[in-house]
Amino acid sequence: MTPSQLSLVLPRVVITGGAGFVGASLCERFLADGWQVLAIDNLCTGRHSNIAHLLDNPNFELRIADVTEPFSVAGPVAAVLHFASPASPLDYMAMPIQTLKTCAHGTFNGLEVAREKNAKFLMASTSEIYGDPLEHPQREDYWGNVSSTGPRSVYDEAKRYSEAATMAYQRTYGVDTRIIRIFNTYGPRMKPRDGRVITAFLVQSLLGEPFTVFGDGRQTRSFCYVDDLVDGVVKVLHSGDHLPYNLGNPVEVTILELIDQVQQLVGPQQVTFLPLPQDDPTRRQPDISRARSHLGWEPKISLQKGLVRTLAGLRATLAAAASPR
Ligand code: NAD
Ligand code: UDP
Repeated sequence: MTPSQLSLVLPRVVITGGAGFVGASLCERFLADGWQVLAIDNLCTGRHSNIAHLLDNPNFELRIADVTEPFSVAGPVAAVLHFASPASPLDYMAMPIQTLKTCAHGTFNGLEVAREKNAKFLMASTSEIYGDPLEHPQREDYWGNVSSTGPRSVYDEAKRYSEAATMAYQRTYGVDTRIIRIFNTYGPRMKPRDGRVITAFLVQSLLGEPFTVFGDGRQTRSFCYVDDLVDGVVKVLHSGDHLPYNLGNPVEVTILELIDQVQQLVGPQQVTFLPLPQDDPTRRQPDISRARSHLGWEPKISLQKGLVRTLAGLRATLAAAASPR
């Protein structure tokens, strides 16, 4: 078989946000699993360098486009993965209207493609839909504690709306949908200055800057390495479940404990305490019993191992940015 004949029989996946931090790892994984991949991205927070190494692959295509505008795809499509959306608080607060539109219009546009192609549709939701949770750890049947008007609402409420749209297409048109709620995920492709805490602390330690702790540092998060998340995405896609799955690492740490781990890796550094941003959740930990029992999924990569890999990636990014062209 020639490569073009071969590509005719490969299933095709459309990944919105494919040039983003998580999206690029998904593109790699689906190509490795024998899919054709169409990544659609407007590069508002993603980077061309995340997928540049894939452009020579005949089974990979990048389309620079904004998914808030309706889009069509020629030929058969087996799955649409909707990952487009700013995800860092710094990014979505800088782009509030765009974030709302990407999660609203963008979700409908992706769902329409899935409906037309009779394809699966997987929506990337977030632990933020639980807001500042009153139940701990968070199970999928917890409805959340979310401000509809605060600065984070442009993301939290937009993702809640996106979940509702996804369920409505499943119930109304029978689209074969999936919803995953991603808890803080990190890895080497994150942008050094995206404001998320792991990149912030690792870059600060590399550049000899003080750690910026918001609040007293006793708030908690549970950090999942990107490869574990990608395994979970694939398992959810192949499952038959329309109801949401939490995907995250259940090991909960305070922000001060995270600093300890970073210091063990890169050495001691001063700490500057800054005001806690409005509506910053105080605790966050996924209950992943559902993913464990239905999918046999759980994270395998420890925070310490993941930090080592992420540090190497950030070091390379900073070195590339500093080197003369
Ligand atoms: P990211 O910012 O690196 O990736 C998002 C990608 O979407 C970027 O490449 C961006 O350019 C693209 N995009 C945004 N708006 C678009 C639009 N209108 N049209 C086309 N492309 C657009 O963020 P990420 O961390 O990779 O997050 C990916 C997805 O996972 C997001 O939907 C996010 O909400 C979700 N998520 C991520 C985390 C996490 O911890 N990383 C946690 C919860 C949910
Ligand atoms: N945080 C911090 N210093 C930073 C960046 C973030 O103390 O430089 C805190 C932030 O207030 C939050 C936690 O780390 O309590 C996780 O923040 P991040 O932006 O990574 O993710 P999210 O708030 O969306 O969980």
